[in-house]
Amino acid sequence: MSDYFIKNNRVNPKFLCHNTTEDIKRKYGKPIRNSRLLTEIKVPYPMVLAWNTKSNITRIKCHKKVAKPLADALYHIKHYPDMIKTLGLNLYAGCYNYRRVRGGRYLSAHSWGIAIDINSSGNPFRCQPKNTVLGRNPELALKFANIMLRYGFKTLEYDLMHYQFVL
Ligand SMILES: [Zn+2]
Repeated sequence: MSDYFIKNNRVNPKFLCHNTTEDIKRKYGKPIRNSRLLTEIKVPYPMVLAWNTKSNITRIKCHKKVAKPLADALYHIKHYPDMIKTLGLNLYAGCYNYRRVRGGRYLSAHSWGIAIDINSSGNPFRCQPKNTVLGRNPELALKFANIMLRYGFKTLEYDLMHYQFVL
């Protein structure tokens, strides 16, 4: 396999986001609280809330600069229903949310609305990459990660539900 998403329990570095909170502040300014910089995108395929699958998600609130790439990425994914089903890409777990990183004092990228969490139960925080739903489906995971990368989204080594805009 010449290209990969996870190998030897590590994520391919090209898919990893290394932006710090300071990087994000420099680029996007102060974090957003109900700001005019937020907008909503329509969800292009049926999504539900990850922790309450009876709750349909039709719109996602995000930063205006991320709206087009995020909508385009999801529209691209829409064409692969098998991938959506196997990887649980219909399980929305949050985008804009003014909060600190889990267990840390820095603000999360979610405070700016520039990251989306997908399938939080299949890709739990701090889970070994090989034990996530992405790790168990290497070919589909590679396809998914490449789509996200194409639109400017990268993940975090121990937070594979998380895709953050880096362009
Ligand atoms: Zn996240």
